[in-house]
Amino acid sequence: MVLYSLLLFLSAGMAGALLAFPAARDVLSQAARALGTRRHARRAALALAAFVLLGALPLAVLLGSGSNDPAPDAGRAPVRRPVNRQVAQLLEGEHLTPPLPLPPLAFTTADVTLVRPMLGGASRDWGQLDDTFSQRLLRVFQVMREQHGYDMALLEGYRSPQRQDQLAAAGPHVTSARAYQSQHQFGQAADCAFVRDGKLVISERDPWAMRGYRLYGETAEAMGLTWGGRWTMMDFGHVEMRSSGN
Ligand SMILES: [Zn+2]
Repeated sequence: MVLYSLLLFLSAGMAGALLAFPAARDVLSQAARALGTRRHARRAALALAAFVLLGALPLAVLLGSGSNDPAPDAGRAPVRRPVNRQVAQLLEGEHLTPPLPLPPLAFTTADVTLVRPMLGGASRDWGQLDDTFSQRLLRVFQVMREQHGYDMALLEGYRSPQRQDQLAAAGPHVTSARAYQSQHQFGQAADCAFVRDGKLVISERDPWAMRGYRLYGETAEAMGLTWGGRWTMMDFGHVEMRSSGN
């Protein structure tokens, strides 16, 4: 492919130079003058330039096409990336089921309402989430519980465009994303929190919760998800998957 690109580049460069610069044509003309009149030589130079441009370009494209699919025996060792064990288990087809939901009132207590005022109308239906995303998030929950001792709950998953606009209207301290500007509208984002003694813990001042958020972010990133804790407007409970699956 490098060879073809070089050929393409040289051909285009030569043709361009011959067409654009009379000096380049004159050099060719002088070389050809011995073979005929100047008029003929100039015409021959232009014809050669046109031939290179019109003939070599399709040839180079033709030769170059088909080489984009890497041949298995191309002589290069396949690139081996370390596969995260948790991701590998997901790829093996294990299907995780959502945890039992907390009672609806757990999401509208005074403590919760103080930090997340509009959770009453939020969807916590795992079935409305993208299947790949929900499986990765459930694996995060499992790792958090089994390896770090944190029980987690979904605060909000899918969010309708209407609700996204309502939240945006409440101000940038809630969200600055309007309808369809958030992965929540595509079922590929979730806001989560911790559960301690049967109660939701949504706090950036609680050291236990902050330790949990860091572990949650690390675990989510290991699963190929994006963690809102790294954003300028930090959103520690938010994780999302970009459409590409990365
Ligand atoms: Zn969110």
